[in-house]
Amino acid sequence: MTKILHRTIGTTLPRAVAGEGIYITDSEGRIYIDGSGGAAVSCLGHNHPEVLEAMKAQMGRITYAHTSFFTTDVAEQLAEQLVELAPNGLDYVYLVSGGSEAVESALKMARQYFVEVGQPQRRHIIARRQSYHGNTIGALATGGNAWRRAQFKPILPETHHVSPCYAYRDMPVGETPEDYAERLAAELEAKIIELGTGKVMAFVAEPVVGATLGAVGPVADYFKRVRQVCDKYGILLILDEVMCGMGRTGTMFACEQEGIVPDLVTIAKGMGGGFQPIGALMLSEKIYRAFAEGSGLFQHGHTYIGHPVAAAAANKVVEIVRRPEIMENVIKMGECLQAGLDAALGQSPYVGDIRGRGLFRGVEIVADKDTQQPFDPARKIHSRIKKEAMKRGLMCYPMGGTIDGVNGDHVLLAPPYIIQAKQIDLIVERLAESIDAAVKS
Ligand code: PMP
Repeated sequence: MTKILHRTIGTTLPRAVAGEGIYITDSEGRIYIDGSGGAAVSCLGHNHPEVLEAMKAQMGRITYAHTSFFTTDVAEQLAEQLVELAPNGLDYVYLVSGGSEAVESALKMARQYFVEVGQPQRRHIIARRQSYHGNTIGALATGGNAWRRAQFKPILPETHHVSPCYAYRDMPVGETPEDYAERLAAELEAKIIELGTGKVMAFVAEPVVGATLGAVGPVADYFKRVRQVCDKYGILLILDEVMCGMGRTGTMFACEQEGIVPDLVTIAKGMGGGFQPIGALMLSEKIYRAFAEGSGLFQHGHTYIGHPVAAAAANKVVEIVRRPEIMENVIKMGECLQAGLDAALGQSPYVGDIRGRGLFRGVEIVADKDTQQPFDPARKIHSRIKKEAMKRGLMCYPMGGTIDGVNGDHVLLAPPYIIQAKQIDLIVERLAESIDAAVKS
């Protein structure tokens, strides 16, 4: 019996013993295609020799140096690379150890920023329903996923939510994307006015939604309008690119495709590629200056921030991901994956929508294609799909279970950026079989 408290208590999980490229092998010798990069993490696959070499080299130098005493070459190089790659204006980096930590840090930085600039009355956070920003208390409160929040609601700090940009369900036939973006911007503005225009500190959103909706991108102009509304009321825009950033959608930062620059952006998963736990918060000059010219201290920190081995791994991952041939493959294979899914599942009575960008693709499962009615959450179709897929040697990332009945079941695919067309074909084939088996079971 396992002594580990797995997330689903009492489950027996296969033991991963080896990883190579896009494959993971378990102790029984079964081989799985990592079609989801774990949870959109393993962007370069497993055991990448260059990353292992960079980690070993750092381990031979120094493995830990507390950041209140020292910085390191690798952490500095990593920060320089990130600033070079980020949209203009995001010039500073705060290193952390994962996604939730990045989001917590962003929330606290936003709050302290307003204290530093003499607006301590700003305290409200607005985010979107059906969103996920992490599992720590602040990040969980920010996310709007009812299922994940339900039990913890009484201990979560107060936050506010508006509609996500979810055209498949919420943009009626006849409404243009421009009108839809305008309607959502008006909803955000109304919420700001309701809370008091000088009292809101931040709006938080994922450019392409990952863990709650399965690769749902915004309609054109949505983020431009959001940026305008935030600017109008002096509110900081925090974009959470923990999942969709670092090349996942075909550009280093997903917000590049929206033509806007946030005040703060969080990154994590693909930044370390799973070789080490690491994440970052990037911030604008405006925020940096408020701290530098104010108290001179960010009242926040964790023991492992800037960990040298994690920084060495991420520094190499980012160096590889930014190579043109990698990003070209993300775009090309992303189109191949979409085309394959469309061909295999487009006609399925259980598939309502197939969407995404780059190597970040989602399939929405429905009980009735015409009415978009989701399956009864009690059937846990998404979990069944995961089980069926594992039986067939495919890892895919299922999500669902929101109790308001709207979220439904989704499957996210986020394979490593090094994937090839033949492997994409296998993913599609195995997923199609798994969906079929799950809805019929
Ligand atoms: N933000 C987003 C958008 C995420 O997808 C996740 C993880 N799924 C997190 C934050 C939390 O990251 P972590 O699990 O590394 O704490």
